[in-house]
Formats: sequence, structure tokens, C-alpha cells
Amino acid sequence: MPATAVSMSTTDHIAVVERYAAHNYHPLEVVLDRGEGAWVWDVEGREYFDCLSGYSALNFGHSHPRLVARAQEQLATLTLTSRAFFHDRLGEFARELAELTGKDMILPMNSGAEAVETAIKVSRKWGIQVKKVDPERANIVVMDGNFHGRTTTIVGFSTDPVAREGYSPFTPGFTIVPYGDAAAVEAAITEHTVAVLLEPIQGEGGVVIPPDGYLTAVREICTRHGVLMVADEIQSGLARTGKTFACDHELVVPDIWVMGKALGGGIMPVSAIAANHDVMDVITPGSHGSTFGGNPLACAIGHEVVLMLKTGEFQERARRLGEELHTALRTLEGHGVVGIRQRGLWAGVDVDTSLMTGRRLCEGMARRGVLAKDTHGSTIRLAPPLVCTEADIDHMVEAMRATLDAG
Ligand SMILES: *Cc1c(COP(=O)(O)O)cnc(C)c1O
Repeated sequence: MPATAVSMSTTDHIAVVERYAAHNYHPLEVVLDRGEGAWVWDVEGREYFDCLSGYSALNFGHSHPRLVARAQEQLATLTLTSRAFFHDRLGEFARELAELTGKDMILPMNSGAEAVETAIKVSRKWGIQVKKVDPERANIVVMDGNFHGRTTTIVGFSTDPVAREGYSPFTPGFTIVPYGDAAAVEAAITEHTVAVLLEPIQGEGGVVIPPDGYLTAVREICTRHGVLMVADEIQSGLARTGKTFACDHELVVPDIWVMGKALGGGIMPVSAIAANHDVMDVITPGSHGSTFGGNPLACAIGHEVVLMLKTGEFQERARRLGEELHTALRTLEGHGVVGIRQRGLWAGVDVDTSLMTGRRLCEGMARRGVLAKDTHGSTIRLAPPLVCTEADIDHMVEAMRATLDAG
């Protein structure tokens, strides 16, 4: 650690960040300098249970020994080749991830937004070349309240004014329909539709769970109309909901899986899409790429993540701890909690805003040793690392109760 960092207080750190880094976030006023498992520590030595988990990028917790060991080994061996050459780590990662997803092939990228962009490009190219849709009119049906990342094309079909404002003109070719309404999806499909893109659970939207049978209905509609179903499982996937994918709860298999966040083990950005030959074969040399996508370090970490997921252990933990979380959260009803939406170890909790805002609740919880993040003013999203314990969950719910009761 640099000598200067030791003497810097929380306010010193924040002042430098505010002065020199763009203000694209409004963080809680804690400055973290260490993490282990489900817990993090700040520069003042205070400890916190991390209930955000890097928006589920940290499903395996901070510094998971197995992932750190694998990363360190690869770090000292080979980190980057570019895809201009083969390297010895891509094959095993691709094979294992293809097996996990049940698809023929994967296409590795880095950030989640890049993987979504990749799915959009592959869907359009499939539509234009295989389905023979008019190239000027290829269309993708997307959902109200979606969150798929921050690129210009993606924010162009966001329905969040703050995410869009000032970034026009936007990419055409997207139709927005209400989320959770299969009939609306069907009504929006035309001869020009190439894909339906959705989150099986809307994470940034506030852990919005569609009605039972919705994913099954969308799958059936897509199949009947010859349209690709694209599931963005960047936040919902990789064990968070108690299954490998949120679509697994309805035994639904999309044509394209989109993965990110936890695929990088909380260590680095690793994302990918998975699809079968009939779809992925539209990608040819030069038609898509990324300097860092599929690099040896990313592949080594991603491979280890897939091996950890293959045992089903983390899915089981999410399911079991999720039940614990649910029981504990129910005790907060009547303490200012007015709504709970939950699947696995992932909950959106609505608070009575006449009592306090989501932001104030998160600030109060932080003072009591729990980090969480509000969304849309009145919802707290709870997504602790899957390595946490029942005692951690009790600690979190008590911090929430104490904050709400203090008013
Ligand atoms: C986080 C997220 C993304 C974007 O991922 P980045 O790595 O931030 O680009 C896309 N889709 C969903 C559902 C997400 O939660």
C-alpha cells in the first residue's frame, strides 16, 4: 500500500475522487480498501457485509481463494495474446461454458454491454442473412424498464430518461413493449423482427419478476414466429437465483444466452454469449472482435468460475440462503417494508417513502455495517455474495430493522 494512502481519511479520499474523476456515480460515503468473502473493510477500519456484490459480479465473494490462485497462476504465465493468435486457455473455457449453457459455441467479450451488443449484432446478422429480413428494417423487441448497459445503441432503447438524455441520435430498429406481457410481445412481432431481447428478471429495474409462465410464453411465441429469443442473464445468471440461469426456473432455453458480471469471478470483466451453430455461424473472421475479449487471464478465471458452477454448490447455497433471507425479510413488514420481490439470494425490497427514502435507508444500514444500494428511490436491492452465512443475513436484516425503526 502506498504510504500516503495510510494517512488519508474517508473525506480526503472522497475529495480527490470528486475533484479528478467524472461524477457519473453518487456513491455512499464509504471508502473501501479490503474485501474477503462476503465482507469488506473501509480505510477507517470499519467492516461491512456487502449486500450489493458488485451488482452480482461478486457472486463468489471477494478474493475467493480458488479464483485468486487461478488468476495469480495465469497472471505469471500469459495474460494477453490478442485473438490474432491461438492461446492455450481459450479452448477449455469455451468448451466448459458451452457445456454449462447447453449451446454449441460461445463468443467471449469483456463487459456486459459488449456482450449485449454482440447479441444484437448476431441477431441482426442472423435475421438479415438467414431469415432474409430487409437489412434496413431488421427489428428487435425489447422491454419497458430494461437495463442492458451503457453503450449508445443500448441506451437508445432504454426507457430510463436519465440513461438516455443528451445521447441522441439513437440507433433505430427497436420496439419497446411492457415487461411481463407475452401478448404485447406477440403483437409487436412483424415480418422484420429478428429477436426478442429480455432480462428474465429485471435487476436494475428493482428485481422485477415477470408473471409465472411469461418466459415459457415468450419462448413459444419466438419459436412460432421464427424469431430469436435472447436472454440477458448478466445479472440474473450464474447461480444468483438458485439455478444456473433464471430461465431455468421455467425450463426455458433461449437461442442466445448473454452472460457477464460473475463470469469474471469479481476479478476482471469477462462476458460472453452462447448460441448454437445455426445462429453463431453468421460470425466470420473480421466481422466482430475485441482486443481483450477471450484473453488468457479472462479465460483462466472464467474457466474456474464455470468449474465452480458445475458442482451446483453455489446454486444450492443461493436457494437455501434465499429461503433464510425471505423469512427474515418478512419480519420487516410493518416496519416500513411495503413490498418484497425475491428469487434465490436476490431481493428487491420496497420501502415506505413517507418514512424514508431508499438512499437514507442505505446510509443508515451503512452506519450499522451493511452495504446496499437503492434503485428508483424506493427500492433496496439485496444481493449478498453466495458465500455469506445465515448469521450475515440476520445481521443485514437487523441493520435494516434498526434503521427503519429509528425513522
Ligand atoms: C450490468 C448489466 C449489464 C451491463 O454490464 P456491464 O458490464 O456494466 O457493461 C447488462 N445487462 C444486465 C442485465 C446487467 O445487469
